Amino acid sequence: MRVLVKLSGEALSGEGRKGFDPERVSYLTSEIKKVVEEGYRVGIVVGAGNLFRGIELRGLSRERADQIGLLGTVMNAVYLKDHFEREGLKTKIFSQIVNLPDVESVSYDSIESAIENGFVLIFAGGTSNPFFTTDTAAVLRAKEMKAQIIVKATKVDGIYDKDPKRFSDARKIERLTFSEAMKMRIEVMDAEAFALCKKLGITVRVINFFEPGSLLRALKGENIGSIVLP
Ligand code: UDP
Repeated sequence: MRVLVKLSGEALSGEGRKGFDPERVSYLTSEIKKVVEEGYRVGIVVGAGNLFRGIELRGLSRERADQIGLLGTVMNAVYLKDHFEREGLKTKIFSQIVNLPDVESVSYDSIESAIENGFVLIFAGGTSNPFFTTDTAAVLRAKEMKAQIIVKATKVDGIYDKDPKRFSDARKIERLTFSEAMKMRIEVMDAEAFALCKKLGITVRVINFFEPGSLLRALKGENIGSIVLP
């Protein structure tokens, strides 16, 4: 089974923090390793909220700020590759936006051969275009690697009708469609990503990635978190 895991940049730094937290990254590495050892083929799309988010960079045009954000995803990918390889996970980074010794350009053949040869794939550089997010990139890359599912790694155990941290009556929604998610303005992914999932027939499971073993349990079919269906 093939899975695309969407990691936000903050998975590498901690919520609301910048940079890298090596302890978080080793946790993340061990969670990915557990599923690789069970035979799952894993692709990762990583964000850059721990470094730069275009929208947060003041005084620059959005196009420029987003290019800086895109480069942040490459920095995260290189950082992750180093950690993964130290833990014995063979890893390849794919991206269209840079030419670096550790980064290969995206081609369907090389993606397929990397998957078949047991590599973890890290897709950096988002969609390659300003004005998008790495959630949308996750959907595109999931389709390209023929993943059966996207697992969106969050810090909450699924989708709620309102922010469970702010509202004590927030209700968890275990199962919904992308159309329902868009109608309810669920913010776990942006509208472009939801629309693309619907169009391409891709399922997303939203889990609390910081509960140890949750990724593996989700892939084994346990009904944890929330599932969004085309
Ligand atoms: N970005 C972009 N195009 C993309 C993906 C990302 O311009 O296709 C830029 C954008 O500035 C964004 C930043 O890269 O804010 C980091 O991505 P994202 O906000 O999705 O990261 P996350 O919130 O997942 O850490």
